[in-house]
Amino acid sequence: MSASTSRQITYSPAYTIVPTYECFNRCTYCNFRTDPGKSPWLTLTDGENLLKSLQNTGVCEILILSGEVHPNSALRKAWFDRIYNLCKLALSLGFLPHTNVGPLTFAEMALLKNVNVSMGLMLEQLTPSLLNTVHKNAPSKLPELRLKQLEFAGKLKIPFTTGLLLGIGENSSDWWESLEAIAKIHQRWGNIQEVILQPHSPGTQQTWQFPAFDNHLLPEIITKAKQILPPEITIQIPPNLVQQPELLLACLDAGARDLGGIGPKDEVNPDYPHPHYQKLTQILQPASWELVPRLPVYPQYDDWLSEELQISVKRWRNTIQSVDFIPGSSVIL
Ligand code: SF4
Repeated sequence: MSASTSRQITYSPAYTIVPTYECFNRCTYCNFRTDPGKSPWLTLTDGENLLKSLQNTGVCEILILSGEVHPNSALRKAWFDRIYNLCKLALSLGFLPHTNVGPLTFAEMALLKNVNVSMGLMLEQLTPSLLNTVHKNAPSKLPELRLKQLEFAGKLKIPFTTGLLLGIGENSSDWWESLEAIAKIHQRWGNIQEVILQPHSPGTQQTWQFPAFDNHLLPEIITKAKQILPPEITIQIPPNLVQQPELLLACLDAGARDLGGIGPKDEVNPDYPHPHYQKLTQILQPASWELVPRLPVYPQYDDWLSEELQISVKRWRNTIQSVDFIPGSSVIL
């Protein structure tokens, strides 16, 4: 199931669970957040009911995606515990959790390693210039804070997904600088499994009035990213944000090999629903690309996981490769 096999494009059959939409940051391109106190947290009972409804539907990855509670808030521990317990619940019900909830302390990450097969955080862009614009009111978007997360993940041996958000006011040399920083961390720790190249795609909830990223630049960026990043890092393109079939194929020709988690809703870009599995295969098959499911942890990292997690992962590796596995479940379709 390795994406290195020629003409194979991977995706993760996933479902996103949101513990809370409340976030103390105010990124002006955000289509996700509510003000603190305005989004009731998902209870464990509701989480359990939701997870149970996803059993035997083909969903493998549970992406835990959350707005952020301030590190110094009295609610931080309760917020963290909710995330941890949702991961634990997902694991106990047979899913593979992947958490992406903003910058965490080293201790928080160390705890989450026990209940996640991988974790993620977008680096977005390294340039501090964005702190004066789109990230003016977003303390979590301090570039050095985000880079530190990648380092923490390396030290803790957590397989990690990161990426760039393109078209939020940076310039092209900023892209290469951000990619070089990711490459450097991977050279040190070997922990970056994927890099997402996510084009800014305006949504109806954001306050920032700015056009969409010019997706025609993507193939060129992918080509350069392939030169900067070590070859074992997979480049991911979100197909719901690259909707023109010929452009998606051009991205694959340039070296992208993964389409990320595909589920009923892209919580970060709710105005851009994921394409159905059949629609994707209709685009890919004529160009001789085969769409294959993958787990949220890449095989080269299996032995970084605890014995308990390895058992769950092994079970999924067998399931997903079996002829009975329906790629694109009733939930995804
Ligand atoms: S983009 Fe993320 S960090 Fe920024 S406001 Fe939205 S939820 Fe918060």
